[in-house]
Amino acid sequence: MVKWDSEVDVVVIGAGATGLPAAIAAREAGCSAIVVETQPHAGGHAIISGGNVPLGGGTSAQIKAGIADSPDLVFSDLTDWSIVQPNGFPDYRYNDREIVRAFADNNVSTYDWLLAHGVTFADKAPDDRGGVSIGNSVPREMHCVPLDWPLGQTGKPVDPAIRATYSTGAGLMHPLIAYARGCGVELLYEHRMTALVRETPTSGRVLGIEVEHRGAKRAFRARKAVVIATGGSIGNVNFRRMFDPRLTEEYCGLAGMPWSDQDASGEIAAMAVGAALWGAFNQSGEFGFHLTKAGRIGCQYGYRHLNWEPTSPVFARARASGLAVTDWQNVILVNMLGERFYDETGEQFTANNLGRVKEYVPGSWLNAKNITWNPNNFLNAAMAGLGDGHNGGGPIWAIFDAEAVAREKWVVEPPFVDREHGFFFSAGTLEELAAKIQMKYQRVPMPAHKLAAQVARYNSFVERGEDVDFAKPKPLHKIATPPFYAAWATPVPHDTRAGLRINAGCQVIDMQGQIIPGLYCGGESAGGFSQHGLARCVVQGLIAGRNAANENLS
Ligand SMILES: Cc1cc2nc3c(=O)[nH]c(=O)nc-3n(C[C@H](O)[C@H](O)[C@H](O)COP(=O)(O)OP(=O)(O)OC[C@H]3O[C@@H](n4cnc5c(N)ncnc54)[C@H](O)[C@@H]3O)c2cc1C
Repeated sequence: MVKWDSEVDVVVIGAGATGLPAAIAAREAGCSAIVVETQPHAGGHAIISGGNVPLGGGTSAQIKAGIADSPDLVFSDLTDWSIVQPNGFPDYRYNDREIVRAFADNNVSTYDWLLAHGVTFADKAPDDRGGVSIGNSVPREMHCVPLDWPLGQTGKPVDPAIRATYSTGAGLMHPLIAYARGCGVELLYEHRMTALVRETPTSGRVLGIEVEHRGAKRAFRARKAVVIATGGSIGNVNFRRMFDPRLTEEYCGLAGMPWSDQDASGEIAAMAVGAALWGAFNQSGEFGFHLTKAGRIGCQYGYRHLNWEPTSPVFARARASGLAVTDWQNVILVNMLGERFYDETGEQFTANNLGRVKEYVPGSWLNAKNITWNPNNFLNAAMAGLGDGHNGGGPIWAIFDAEAVAREKWVVEPPFVDREHGFFFSAGTLEELAAKIQMKYQRVPMPAHKLAAQVARYNSFVERGEDVDFAKPKPLHKIATPPFYAAWATPVPHDTRAGLRINAGCQVIDMQGQIIPGLYCGGESAGGFSQHGLARCVVQGLIAGRNAANENLS
């Protein structure tokens, strides 16, 4: 028998884009609600996100801008089998129709709810900026602005000149955190959910959760329901490898870390009480942002749109801001053996957004036929490995010289680079550089002669104006002026697009297809819906919170 330390109507796990709307919705329906959050701060990835929110279906912002949209159009866009990326992968084909229908039907009300709960959007027409798998037909992306709230990345408010135009998740989450506190939602920080409690291990109602708080164990009883809003699983190596065996430990730069993790704790706890997973293809499909090309190099956390500045409250854990690469002509990228593997200017996977399919006709076979076949395999080549029987591509290193540093105007010292933990090295010769590259994920030494030979070969391509090996568009710069540098440039995991099986009401479903009474889930921990980010999370948070509040008291 579990000894409960406290008892409320609705327990929400995770104070991010899904959890806070769920808790507020439950509270507004007359329930008591707590949110347990493992971090010492609220907001999840949402608060350090770009704040681009794709909510359409006929919002007042769309109407004001003369954009004709409807729930039916949102639904048809996000379930269209005929849309494929240039590599042939479909964004929407494997979406669960019930889940997307519920999303489409709740777009307008969610937008109105955000406005009513203190969120300010940039006063401009919706567009497609920052969109990832948001539908082809009309502009839907809106942008939360920070006003005077501080950013997690900097610890400071933005320049007053851009306070009403700069798109950021701080503008979404700070108002919701304040609202949650104001309406009586209890936020418990440094409370990590470790298990769900069910009547029997795999039957009956979910009764509550167990948590760990600074080494002490506690248990919270949920009279009505528990909502899992833990933000996904791609940060958990063993979990993500169920979808892609290549994603081994070296992909350690998860976007959004170190603000908060995506450690699959919600999924694992739910699976332990019988829950099923859903829409697994969406996690392996080669579209969108679940895996990204590093945009900042020489640091562990190299997501291109996230710059940890020394003033950030989590900078001690981030350790370095990284060097933002503006032109991949300035470096070559090599694997653990010092060998190039692809055109460095190659990009990550793409996604469907407004206007990407020309002369689009919903559901027409011509949409797929008219896409120009142009597979970009940069990430696949980076993860190919060495052919020695090991999974994972190993570290990818950007190799460059002093002239590249000057061209990029990089400062190759802390706080920009992380030498101490082995994410950045420099040396007077290429041979010395190769010998220095030692860190926990470099499982084989880089042969000095191979790196030197690779650079010599690349320099010969620059001389002749042609990359014979990988067709990099006209290689421009030799790597010849010491000192020489090696900066961590390994691909960065980002999105989770598969998770727990839910129904349209966000109830979690078990392996027999039955509802698990008293258990809800939404956001990146929920499966069946392949779309990046905030809109599906907030919508599902509201659905989950309202339905949790309507559960009969047990
Ligand atoms: C840098 C960056 C930029 C982005 N930009 C955009 C954008 O512009 N537009 C967009 O639509 N999307 C964007 N996203 C994605 C978006 O932020 C996420 O999809 C969204 O925040 C996910 O919401 P969530 O509620 O599922 O998880 P989160 O918002 O991450 O919240 C999950 C919370 O659960 C907590 N938690 C996890 N496990 C436990 C546990 N066991 N116990 C207690 N608490 C736990 C976490 O600490 C976290 O606070 C971005 C993401 C990143 C990282």
